[in-house]
Amino acid sequence: PPARLPVPLSGRAYEVVVGDGLLARAGGLIAPALPARRVAIVSDASVAGLHLPTLEVGLREAGFEIRASLTVPPGEASKSFSQFGTLMEDLLAAGIDRQTAVVALGGGVVGDLAGYAAASALRGLPFVQIPTTLLAQVDSSVGGKTGINLRAGKNLAGAFHQPRIVLADTGVLSTLPSRELRAGYAEVAKHGLLQGALWDWCEANGAKAVAGDAAALRHAVLESCRLKAAVVAADEREESPEGGRALLNLGHTFGHAIEAECGYDGSLLHGEGVAIGLGLAARLSVILGLCEATLPERVEAHLSAVGLPARLSHLPRRFTLAALMARMRKDKKVRDGALRFVLLRGPGQAFTKDDVDPALVEALLRSEG
Ligand code: NAD
Ligand code: ZN
Repeated sequence: PPARLPVPLSGRAYEVVVGDGLLARAGGLIAPALPARRVAIVSDASVAGLHLPTLEVGLREAGFEIRASLTVPPGEASKSFSQFGTLMEDLLAAGIDRQTAVVALGGGVVGDLAGYAAASALRGLPFVQIPTTLLAQVDSSVGGKTGINLRAGKNLAGAFHQPRIVLADTGVLSTLPSRELRAGYAEVAKHGLLQGALWDWCEANGAKAVAGDAAALRHAVLESCRLKAAVVAADEREESPEGGRALLNLGHTFGHAIEAECGYDGSLLHGEGVAIGLGLAARLSVILGLCEATLPERVEAHLSAVGLPARLSHLPRRFTLAALMARMRKDKKVRDGALRFVLLRGPGQAFTKDDVDPALVEALLRSEG
């Protein structure tokens, strides 16, 4: 049977359901969480080709009326203002009303875009997340952040719009390219480092998860969602200045800088940038005298074992120090030239530090080549 994990928010609590084969029985699973058996599905063309028919059958079997099945092109470029506008026009043209739920079937791109459209169309429609990438199952589908990219940067327009229910069907991960699976696993490793016991599990079982082992994937998704749900419930709108949701940025100050330098052209996946960021965050923690000197090797050994890059030198391209430092200075919440990082005293002991001396970060990056 699927596992049900409550996300106890102050407004409406919801459940993350984790299991194999959920798409085929989606209607019965989501109906209790919705005001009516009416939906509009949003997907991307690749995912729709693989999994939309199963979902449509699974919904119709439970008496759902599907007002529309809309698709956008796969890829980050679909998180655009123009796709957002087209999507809302298409939803309204399909005759949706305020009881019609928007169902996102896809990775983080579809979830963020469809969620923002659900937050905006008719001032807010019920929303269902059916994440189909590991990244979306362990991270983006839980927490209520939705949005699109602007020319000024990623995720700069958006809304908090919590789903009524999340269905994480681990079976759909079998069609996911293995590089995407590994990239999503970087967020599992991040959650492991934040949580502690999950890190030990990662070191022992992570390789099974990235090899597609069903039980390992189920555990990775369930425990990741458990950690993320707890963090999100304690700080729903990322208002806690330290701790709270900010901790989820472990590895992301470095990761975002590397990703931005690569230009979001698919040459580096988000999770690959995060993996390098986790290794660098561990190294920075040692430099600051916060954790045991062996932690970076442990982190890098595990990430390498699951086929993720863990150091800048693991990437084919080189970066200039000045460019990476400039990116990190732009990465919000900087005070008096100091940088903000999530650092580790050890697995399960993360905290934010917003007065990191940039000279130490430069020295670290220089030593990494
Ligand atoms: P994605 O949605 O682009 O999916 C990656 C690729 O995998 C796409 O080509 C897609 O078509 C394909 N795909 C998806 N599911 C598949 C399946 N089951 N089988 C075969 N192919 C499949 O990328 P992603 O990594 O899932 O998400 C990245 C996005 O998530 C970014 O835009 C990022 O900003 C966002 N994000 C949001 C949050 C949040 O809290 N809202 C958190 C983290 C990331
Ligand atoms: Zn991330």
